[in-house]
Amino acid sequence: MRTTKVAKFGGTSMATAASFLAVASIIQNDPTIEFVVVSAPGKQDSKDIKVTDLLYKLADEIIKDKVHPTFDKVKHRFLILAGAVGLTSTFEPILESTLKEMYEEASIAFIVSRGEYLMARLLAIHLNYTFVDAQSILRFRGLSLDHGQTNQQTKAMLKHKPYCVIPGFYGATPGGDVRLLQRGGSDLTGALIARAVKAKMYENWTDVDGFLICDPRVVHQPKIIETMTYRELRLLSFMGATVLHSETFFPVSREGIPIHVRNTFNPTGTGTKIYYEVPGERSKMMITGIAGMKNFTLVVLEKKMLSELVGIDRKILAIPEKMGINIEHFPSGTDTFSMMIESKYLVDGKKEALMTQIQKTIRPDFLEASENISLISIVGRNLLANNYNMLRLFTALVNDNITLKMIDYGSSGANIVIGVSDEDYAYAVNSLYDEFIRDDEEDETH
Ligand code: ASP
Repeated sequence: MRTTKVAKFGGTSMATAASFLAVASIIQNDPTIEFVVVSAPGKQDSKDIKVTDLLYKLADEIIKDKVHPTFDKVKHRFLILAGAVGLTSTFEPILESTLKEMYEEASIAFIVSRGEYLMARLLAIHLNYTFVDAQSILRFRGLSLDHGQTNQQTKAMLKHKPYCVIPGFYGATPGGDVRLLQRGGSDLTGALIARAVKAKMYENWTDVDGFLICDPRVVHQPKIIETMTYRELRLLSFMGATVLHSETFFPVSREGIPIHVRNTFNPTGTGTKIYYEVPGERSKMMITGIAGMKNFTLVVLEKKMLSELVGIDRKILAIPEKMGINIEHFPSGTDTFSMMIESKYLVDGKKEALMTQIQKTIRPDFLEASENISLISIVGRNLLANNYNMLRLFTALVNDNITLKMIDYGSSGANIVIGVSDEDYAYAVNSLYDEFIRDDEEDETH
């Protein structure tokens, strides 16, 4: 059995001496972590500036005016970390020669990438691991990442190099010009490496305990999601829940490599594991998360015999499409059709224009737009396996006096989307949480 793990440590995990030591001890205590990917040091507190942002400023100074006042700040950040592990005198010359190279290369990408580069060098020296430069594994063609070449290069370069540290966020063209990924791109570096080495697990170490079942601004101290699928991650992030961007993880999700989101500051916590398919849970009904967004507009139209008209759905949907308006959901019934649209698409007269166009093209008997609607997505597994769950859902909402404006359940059983008024949003999320999560939790403890 493969035990290889790729572990990526984010910026806040590297911000202070204490967190740097915590990262080092996590790695030292787990010999299955063979490949470590790091970000540049993040903010030490809410008022601090990320090293990457300092480097953007430094790049401007060096390239425009051939001066480097911001370098001292960058140097100071690294020397705090180096000092914590007794490496000040080893690391100072590395910092100085990096400054020299910044002047020689004089490109924004090169200068900005030095945050990750220096972080990886320091950690590699401290752990006595091999430093592997991302420049030799992440391949760019022009400005975009060349996935095929990257995969080949990474496989070749890392084949005989377990126990190495690799900087995230950048790569290079075959000619050696450094190129950056998008901000936050170290997550992608980790995913690309995990794919290439066929890792058993991709650990993503952050500063949170994992994914929460609900938004903590809406529900008091919600539980952590312990396991979920990539599909659920996508459904939850689509509805506004963020910790990871689901697209970043396609290199691992396509290969079925699980991701484990963990907290550097609480390494014994369970974290959240994301699988292609959660082992041993084929038919169990599970609610994974409840996410939602406010501020939608529901456009409803009715017309006698609408359902008999061939191609009418396409004709209706073509109207917002032509106006560049995105439709979130379009639940429809016999002779009725409705469209749930984020209200931000309907400003500056667009709502009126849409209604006029529908009126003209479809000539409905009834047409109405109701605003201030929230969508709540209940995401899980096998949600339709049992009618009793539907009954529980409706009963909980009815008991809390919440009126449903819409209901849409994907036939896959992976999510149920309901619409309520913006005013009822927080009550509805709490009501569902209490019914399905808090009550279950209480049952388990009794
Ligand atoms: N350091 C880079 C950033 O601040 C990349 C990363 O953190 O993943 O965006």
